[in-house]
Amino acid sequence: MIIKPKVRGFICTNAHPVGCAANVREQIEVVQNSGSIQPGSKNALIIGSSTGYGLASRIAAAFGSNAATLGVFFEKPPSETKTASAGYYNSVAFHQEAKSAGLYAESINGDAFSDEIKQQVIEKIKAEMGKIDLVVYSLASPRRTDPKTGITFNSTLKPIGNPVTNKSLDTSKNLVTEVSLDPASDEEIANTIKVMGGEDWEWWIDALSQAGVLTEDCKTVAYTYIGKKITWPIYGHATIGKAKEDLDRAGEVLNRKLSELGGEARVCVLKGLVTQASSAIPVMPLYISLLYKVMKEAGTHEGCIEQINRLFRDAIYADSPELDEKGHWRVDDLELDEEIQQKVEALWEIVNSDNLLELSDYQGYQQEFLKLFGFGIDGVDYEADLSPLLEL
Ligand code: NAD
Repeated sequence: MIIKPKVRGFICTNAHPVGCAANVREQIEVVQNSGSIQPGSKNALIIGSSTGYGLASRIAAAFGSNAATLGVFFEKPPSETKTASAGYYNSVAFHQEAKSAGLYAESINGDAFSDEIKQQVIEKIKAEMGKIDLVVYSLASPRRTDPKTGITFNSTLKPIGNPVTNKSLDTSKNLVTEVSLDPASDEEIANTIKVMGGEDWEWWIDALSQAGVLTEDCKTVAYTYIGKKITWPIYGHATIGKAKEDLDRAGEVLNRKLSELGGEARVCVLKGLVTQASSAIPVMPLYISLLYKVMKEAGTHEGCIEQINRLFRDAIYADSPELDEKGHWRVDDLELDEEIQQKVEALWEIVNSDNLLELSDYQGYQQEFLKLFGFGIDGVDYEADLSPLLEL
């Protein structure tokens, strides 16, 4: 099959296996070019390891410190007529790269929120890995089924208290539009917390700890976004922000438990950038397009792998890393720099459909978006007739 991108709204419904492999290779090189991460992880579990920040974390652990990695994700395998999802091909490529570097790499494809997958992970760790010293929790999902009740909860991206009208980008029409969102109900807030809050992270760490598969000095991290003025009404001060407050709550509980034995749990604040999860959030694509323009001009732009590479070296495995007042490790400093934010805010005021390409890096945004699915990468033959079938 000849594989060309099939973009529907803010999602691309197919992926290119060779392009995805090239992406993984490129990220591995970024980590290798920075030298080894000391002391680093020996045995890492990455929950949400197939795309975005989770994939970058798996790459940093494996290729920064030779860690054995177990990945968990929810991805669509290929069929004779349909490609797999990008995360599936990324994981196939990661396995190949890890194995040729002599590193243990196994993955479990299934619902990380379920008790069944937690149990499968524990059994695999016991049988093949020994004990885990790093657990990265990097799930982004629109829904979660609570395994204890069987009830499925959906998250909502809505403001809290008052309606919000803001500029947004219609990426299917390349137009700057306005988005108006009514405030979330109490139930919608509670459901979003249930999906994207900290409960499942706690359940993971409790299950792993009770099964005796964590080292005494085990570290666990989960990822959050804080942002500033432009994104607060739809992110920081909105339903998803409430869920992230709950992640902070869980981080404190877990840190108290793990630190008794010398371990640590931290929520890490990362930069806003193009991933499958962020492209679904209103306002974010336009904000990111403007941010990329300003940060690229300032020479401070970073992608997923640069962010995670820095997080591993300057925080997770640094001697006495700086914490903010909420106990976070932060690598969003370059994004939140006062001058950068002022420039983005000034552009935000005047950006419209006519000047979009001139004022923003929307072209860069689109390239990065397609790249997430393995498209638009130099050196990949997109006319080649290939089988979509690859085994994980
Ligand atoms: P992503 O969409 O690229 O990755 C999500 C991962 O979760 C994938 O591996 C996917 O397979 C997995 N997943 C989703 N549902 C699952 C399920 N039920 N079972 C198993 N695996 C499942 O997302 P991302 O942007 O890398 O987000 C990861 C974390 O980083 C999130 O907590 C997000 O809030 C945070 N973050 C993102 C940004 C950003 O701008 N993208 C910024 C700061 C923090």
